[in-house]
Amino acid sequence: MRTQARAVVVGGGVVGVSTLYHLVKKGWSDSVLIERKELTSGSTWHAAGLLPLFNLSYSVGQIHKYSVALYKRLGAETGLDVGLAQVSNIRLARTKDRLDEYKYYAGVAATIGVEVKFLTPEQVREVWPLCETDGLLGAIQHPEDGYIQPADLTQALARGARNGGAEINRNTVVTAIERTPYGEWKVVTDKGEILCEHVVSASGNFARTTGRMVGLNVPVIPVQHQYIVTEQHPAIMARKAKGLPEMGVLRESDSSWYMREEAGGLLLGPYEIGAPVCYVDGPSPQSEYELFQEDLERLTPYIETAIARVPALGEVGIKKVYNGAIAYTPDGSPIVGPAPGLRNFWLNEGHSFGVTAAGGAGWQLAEWIVEGEPTIDMLGVDPRRFGPYAQAGFLREKNEEAYAKVFTIHYPDEERAAARPLRQTPCYGRMKDLGAVFGSVYGWERPNWFAPPGYVLSDKDLVKPDVLLNENHPAAGAEKPREKWSFRRSNYFDFVGAECRNVHENVGMQDMSAFAKVEASGPGAEAWLDKILTNRIPKALNRVSLTYLLTKRGGVRAEFTLTRVGPQRFYMVSAGALEAHDYDCLQKLLPTDGSVRLDKVTTQYGVLVLAGPSSREVLAKVADIDVSDKAFPWLTARPLSIGAAGLLALRVNFVGELGYEFHHPIEMQNYIFDRVMAAGAEFGIKPYGIRAMDSLRLEKSYKLVGRELSIEYAALESALERFVDLKKGDFLGRDALLAWRDKGFANRLITMEVHGVTDADARGSEPVLRDGVSVGRTTSGGYGWRTGKSLALAMVRPEFAKLGTELDILVLGEKRRAIVIGDSPFDPENARLKA
Ligand SMILES: Cc1cc2nc3c(=O)[nH]c(=O)nc-3n(C[C@H](O)[C@H](O)[C@H](O)COP(=O)(O)OP(=O)(O)OC[C@H]3O[C@@H](n4cnc5c(N)ncnc54)[C@H](O)[C@@H]3O)c2cc1C
Repeated sequence: MRTQARAVVVGGGVVGVSTLYHLVKKGWSDSVLIERKELTSGSTWHAAGLLPLFNLSYSVGQIHKYSVALYKRLGAETGLDVGLAQVSNIRLARTKDRLDEYKYYAGVAATIGVEVKFLTPEQVREVWPLCETDGLLGAIQHPEDGYIQPADLTQALARGARNGGAEINRNTVVTAIERTPYGEWKVVTDKGEILCEHVVSASGNFARTTGRMVGLNVPVIPVQHQYIVTEQHPAIMARKAKGLPEMGVLRESDSSWYMREEAGGLLLGPYEIGAPVCYVDGPSPQSEYELFQEDLERLTPYIETAIARVPALGEVGIKKVYNGAIAYTPDGSPIVGPAPGLRNFWLNEGHSFGVTAAGGAGWQLAEWIVEGEPTIDMLGVDPRRFGPYAQAGFLREKNEEAYAKVFTIHYPDEERAAARPLRQTPCYGRMKDLGAVFGSVYGWERPNWFAPPGYVLSDKDLVKPDVLLNENHPAAGAEKPREKWSFRRSNYFDFVGAECRNVHENVGMQDMSAFAKVEASGPGAEAWLDKILTNRIPKALNRVSLTYLLTKRGGVRAEFTLTRVGPQRFYMVSAGALEAHDYDCLQKLLPTDGSVRLDKVTTQYGVLVLAGPSSREVLAKVADIDVSDKAFPWLTARPLSIGAAGLLALRVNFVGELGYEFHHPIEMQNYIFDRVMAAGAEFGIKPYGIRAMDSLRLEKSYKLVGRELSIEYAALESALERFVDLKKGDFLGRDALLAWRDKGFANRLITMEVHGVTDADARGSEPVLRDGVSVGRTTSGGYGWRTGKSLALAMVRPEFAKLGTELDILVLGEKRRAIVIGDSPFDPENARLKA
């Protein structure tokens, strides 16, 4: 065994081996993989091998697409057959909402370049003659989809890696991972030690055990998953004898199962409610090719629907049931990227569709490790999308939920119930009493919108379609549900409109305590921030600026509202969901000389936002300082007191009205809340939620990280000219950004008015077309109540960004005319903000 390596990969399942393969392809041939038993002896060997391309996420979709392309060429490259059968995949739809989901998905797929066809029930039967079509509204088909032999795939990737010079050590256990005084990693195994620069944890069901070796809480706990293989069926054997093609993979999403032919019989895999987590404390040291006791009773309702759909399934006996562990995360997506707080330690864990994802995840992680950046925006799978709140109890509840919801309709406004309400701000109860309908982000409860007193959905609204998976609104518990989820405008649409109007005409209050907050301080703080951020660092005390952290290639990694709060102290606020991400990025850029200190203060300060034309009058009533425009201008901060409570008020907001953010000691929140609400009563103060904020920010063309801002787009493609000061001197990503500009940008962020909308606005990830040809994709969309327009933000090829250009957006499969309009369709001069 080598004693030195560039990178060591822990784990020889399909994911670890793919990572090794891609590291070698990127030139790191001196990389090593360690596997405690045989390759594939974890979860990989018993996987059903399906390669579902269906995914609503733009980034995961690209990862899956790459995998299929790689698997197609791998046999020829390595000389090993990987058993790829591109037999196509059909997903059935039994409800209108399911069809909406497919229509939305087809748009996402078009932007990624994945082929999707819509089939009628009759066409389904032509491809799958054993499938009954009762109750079907239609289906989609992926011609490129299919399945593969996971063990053969892993062996082929291993051969590819070995051919490139990598070493694979089987039957070798990693027992400890330590940092040496020189900053390298020492990987300790039962067969010796290896010194290396980088470690990749790809240990499947052992993810938490491996994480513990380096003090990491990896948010992965596996869930049991079963599939059934039947005896041969005469009808399938007859088809084979006639040389007819395989019928392909069939998924009845509304009944939560997949099915395909297997050796002349059928293979059925349900995703059932009630599947338990397993290996909570990690598998045993002996675990190898391990299966659990089957539990067919749990599967019964799903098997019944499968027999109704494909009666042949009930006509043959069961040959074998596989019940194995699948690694899960709270949102069901894998964990691919840097480990928070640890330099050169990488995670490729939590894969529930690991055979499908292995190729793409290995590819992007290798780019990240070798080049310092992936090429695809990986926020959706970034390990830092979870924070320290995601401990074992949370994971048990959320991971079981994520498993049970694999096939539920992924409504854009769905809010899941498990492990809630976990993180409550002090005013949670007050907001609840005011009618808040909460959503959850990063474990926090945040009001999404406010229902009028006594408002509940009617019994007719609460009727669900007669299918196994039929959740289209929160479960009716003690309180009757107040919102219905949809890809179209839903029941809360007008209530959100009323919130927007009140913010625009009077004054609104919002709880944004979930904002991520850090303080950077010390003698080196200003110089360091100037070196890493795009905008000038405010010289004057209490000046506020909006600034960005770029990637070294010039894409956007993070956005901060930065306030100078002392000669050597800066207060930085960013998106709540990105707390761990943003903190980790900053921390890893800190100078090593100790001249800068970074303190995470998210849970120390709450944030109440007061916005609307009357906000100054409300504030004037409660504040102990002069809050006139002259004394407290736009983009400044003022320490002030409301009654006995001291706080820092920032004259900024995300809705484009006169407004203030009150950053206050969190334990004083209700004291402040009550005083502001009382003072605002005469001005018609009302709370507003995230959905109103989203509508209001669209009308200002305000951007969000992960949508309009991404590592994939140059900061100047995302229209950040005002905040990227190319004259201030060097900063991270500046030269690369200039080089990118010289090479020519491929995209431009635009704002569009969408015409002909009846009940469905754009939402983001829809294709943007010119004469039927794709020229970009939307990043956000919705209805603007102040402008009375359906709006969309989009990234398009620069030649289509001119004002007045006529384009089309495919909204749920319908072409809608969209005209490029100027940025900030509401109050482009910012007169309201500066009032
Ligand atoms: C019944 C079933 C059906 C499935 N069907 C599909 C499917 O159709 N399509 C699909 O895409 N996915 C499917 N999956 C999921 C798929 O199996 C997993 O996502 C995938 O195998 C994960 O691969 P991995 O490399 O991350 O983990 P694993 O295959 O579990 O590999 C991790 C490896 O790390 C090794 N290891 C751990 N700790 C150490 C250590 N300290 N030292 C050395 N080695 C260590 C383990 O021994 C193990 O071999 C299915 C899963 C199950 C259970």
